[in-house]
Amino acid sequence: MDKVRGRFAPSPSGEMHLGNAWTALLAWLEVRKANGTMVLRIEDLDPDRSRPEYITGIMRDLAWLGLDWDEGPDVGGAYGPYVQDERRNLYQIMLDRLIASDLVYPCYCTRGEIQAAASAPHAGEGELGYPGTCRNGNSQTVKSDRNPALRLKVPDRMISFEDGLKGRVAENLARTSGDFIVRRSDGVHAYQLAVVVDDAMMRINQVLRGDDLLLSTPRQLLLYDELGFTPPGFTHVPLLYSPDGHRLAKRQRHLALAKLRENNIAPEKLVGYLAWKAGLLDCWQSVQPAELIGTFSLAKLPREAVVVAYDVFTK
Ligand code: GLU
Repeated sequence: MDKVRGRFAPSPSGEMHLGNAWTALLAWLEVRKANGTMVLRIEDLDPDRSRPEYITGIMRDLAWLGLDWDEGPDVGGAYGPYVQDERRNLYQIMLDRLIASDLVYPCYCTRGEIQAAASAPHAGEGELGYPGTCRNGNSQTVKSDRNPALRLKVPDRMISFEDGLKGRVAENLARTSGDFIVRRSDGVHAYQLAVVVDDAMMRINQVLRGDDLLLSTPRQLLLYDELGFTPPGFTHVPLLYSPDGHRLAKRQRHLALAKLRENNIAPEKLVGYLAWKAGLLDCWQSVQPAELIGTFSLAKLPREAVVVAYDVFTK
């Protein structure tokens, strides 16, 4: 069997918080358990959301937690660059392949047009899915008004995979997302395309990430197929939630790793908390990530959202 290659792929759109630490820890443990190679890739594709100062913050926070990587922006490696901003030419090369195979078309629709069409009774089951207007050249928007986005034609068939935690997942993209964007109208390549190109070209064969991305996976599998790449195995872990039912996010500033560090919370205490919530420890105790490698197993991980008390580290 090939050596396991996994990755952690944060977006530098804010400070790392407890939820990022959770997925980073689990992805790291899965790789280390298999004696694999850990890759750190910075997903700063979207210039509107990314800020360079967060990149150093992410690396500092990961190191503080005790999570290391074998390839990444700072240490290099055979499959770099490890920053998406420096890989745009690769995304375009792959996009050109899709264009050459007639799998992509320009879309001039405005957001308003898409919403109007999607809420029309005949629009089918796709809630927010693209109704295919420009596939048939029916956009109301005058074409010269704006640059088009590029969309991938999705087939009307089930795409399925075996998730490491969720079991069999199947989706017919024609009934959900519809034809999805592979390059935005401002010329930025879409996450779905970039992540496939990156994971494929970085030879990633194991992906563990948050289950907010579960429904992105069928889109990515379609791209793997159309670009002729072998997809990795996927495991989507439940996310951390606050007691009021919201996903832990950057706005819970007191759970930013930098803030916890500032408040003298030891990284071992934090890692121990996450490991306990992950079912890897029977009780909350301080540990280093490396001490958890032996006990890590996907079978122990929770299947449902994990709730984190607001004052978890201040009590
Ligand atoms: N960059 C994405 C995020 O921070 C993760 C993408 C992935 O793991 O596929 O949410």
